[in-house]
Parts: sequence; structure tokens; C-alpha cells
Amino acid sequence: MTIRKRGQKVPPKSRASIRALAEQIRTALNLQGGTNMVGLLEFLLPKLDDEFVIDIRPDHEMHGDAARTYPDRKLIEISDSTYDGASNGVGRDNFTLAHEFGHLMMHSGIGPSFGRLRLKTEPAYVDAEWQADTFAAEFLMPASELIGSRLSVSQIEDKYQVSNMAARIRADQLGIRNGE
Ligand SMILES: [Zn+2]
Repeated sequence: MTIRKRGQKVPPKSRASIRALAEQIRTALNLQGGTNMVGLLEFLLPKLDDEFVIDIRPDHEMHGDAARTYPDRKLIEISDSTYDGASNGVGRDNFTLAHEFGHLMMHSGIGPSFGRLRLKTEPAYVDAEWQADTFAAEFLMPASELIGSRLSVSQIEDKYQVSNMAARIRADQLGIRNGE
């Protein structure tokens, strides 16, 4: 069992390489604009990979986790409340599922023996959680669509099914903060 907790060390990935991966997957899946992750995980992905499984579980069985991923088993477990939230367009829950999708895409074949991260001395880009968060932002709010756009933070939030905070961070990151 390989549950990725905060601080799991993984081989380094730059934001640029994660962006390239996210854009490549979006292209392969023919995605444009906002992505509802429930639809993607429940209907689209199993068609492409018949070994992929999602398991929706009661919150109390998740011990406080919104969702968790076992990349080597191609399994994502999702709490009831996160599944419901993402199904209903709650941005934070949609981002959580994109984060788990990032673990699935990037973190198979990495044994726990790769070690724990020494948070104070090691860079963020070897942290599985940083990589998954970065993937989620790049996948849900693609740079190829956003750079040069005139979208405001609230338009990004609505169009890409993310929280206001995620939209704000992304807009700052890409230098596209307009219309606020
Ligand atoms: Zn994670």
C-alpha cells in the first residue's frame, strides 16, 4: 500500500515539465475549457484504461482524507462528500480530484523506500504533494488558454470549476490579473 502523505519524496519534476504533461493529457483527452473531474474519472478515464477504478467511500471510512490515490493499483478512493461536492461544481472538491489524478499520472512505480522528504532542507519540486497541486492547477487552468486571455479571477473560477483562491493564485502566477 502506498498512500501519499504530505512529505513523500519523489523524483524531481519542474513546473514546466508538469505543465507539459498536463497539456499533453488535455490534448489526448480532447479537453477544452473547464473540466469536471467526476466526469473525467468516472466516464472518460475508464474508457481509455480499463484497469482504472474509482471507489466512492463513506466519509467516516476515509479518516479525514478527502480522497486518496494508489497509483500502482490505478485506484482513486473518494469520500462521499468530496464526490458530491465535485459533482455539484464545488471548485475546491474538483481541485482535490485533479490533485489525485496528478498522483495517478505521475507517481506510479515509486516505492516508499524513496524516502520521506526533509521539509526544511529539500526543495518543493521533490514533494509528491507539491507536484500533485501543481498538476491540478496546470490541468484545470491550462496556461495555453489563460496566458494572453483577458479573464478576471471570477471568470476563471466559473469557467474552470475551481475555487476563488485557486483562480486568484493561478491568475497571479500567470500574470493575467484583469478586471478585478
Ligand atoms: Zn496528495
